[in-house]
Amino acid sequence: MTPDPAAATRAAVNVFRQGLLPIVEIFYSLQGEGGRAGQATVFIRLAGCSLACSFCDTDFRVKREMRLEEVVEEAASYQSPWVCLTGGEPTLFDLKPLCDALHNAGFLIQTETNGMHPRPSWNLDYITVSPKESEGGHLNPWYLDHATEFKYVIDNEDDIARALENPTAGNPIGPALYLQPNALNPEAVRLCIEAIKRNPHRLRLSLQTHKYLQIP
Ligand code: SF4
Repeated sequence: MTPDPAAATRAAVNVFRQGLLPIVEIFYSLQGEGGRAGQATVFIRLAGCSLACSFCDTDFRVKREMRLEEVVEEAASYQSPWVCLTGGEPTLFDLKPLCDALHNAGFLIQTETNGMHPRPSWNLDYITVSPKESEGGHLNPWYLDHATEFKYVIDNEDDIARALENPTAGNPIGPALYLQPNALNPEAVRLCIEAIKRNPHRLRLSLQTHKYLQIP
C-alpha cells in the first residue's frame, strides 16, 4: 500500500521527465498469476499509478532512479528469457525505448496493466489486463483486440458480473478471462469457483501462487 499515491505518482513523473526510469524494484522470481504462472521472470516494477485502488497491496513509490541501460543490464544478469513490466502502472510512461532495448537483448516482454493507456508501439509479447472499473478505471478498447488475458480481482458477485461484462466474454476463442480472488478474502475463492463452474467455457481461476508460496 502506498501512503500517498498521488504524491508517489507525481514523484515518478518528475523522475521520468528527467530522462530516468522511476523504479520501485527489480527482482527475479516466478510469475505467480495468470497463464504464465510458474515461469521464471524478471520483474521490473515501475513507480506511480493512474489509480489508487482501495485493495492495492503494492507500494509504488520511487526507490531507484535508473538509466535505461542500467535496467537492461540488471535484467540481463538473471537467467530468464521473460521480463514483466509491472507497477504501479507501467503504461503511465512511454517505455518504448526500454522495450526496444529489452527486445534487442533477447527478452520476451509481458506487461501487467489496468488497461487505461494503450501502448501499441511497445510490441509486447504478452499483455495482462486487470481492469479496475470499480475503482474508477476504464478499459481502453485497444486492449479488447490485443490483451493476451484479462484478470479480474474478485471480492464479491459485482466483481464477477463485471468480468462477465467484458466484451470478449462471449467469444469462445477470445483472450483468457481469469477470476482472481482477493487473497485477503477467503469467501472470494468460493465465489470464483462457483462462477467458473457456471461459466466453464470462458472463465478460469488465477491464484496469487507467489503469496501461497511466500516468494516475492
Ligand atoms: S491499478 Fe494496480 S497498482 Fe494501481 S492502485 Fe490499483 S491495484 Fe494498485
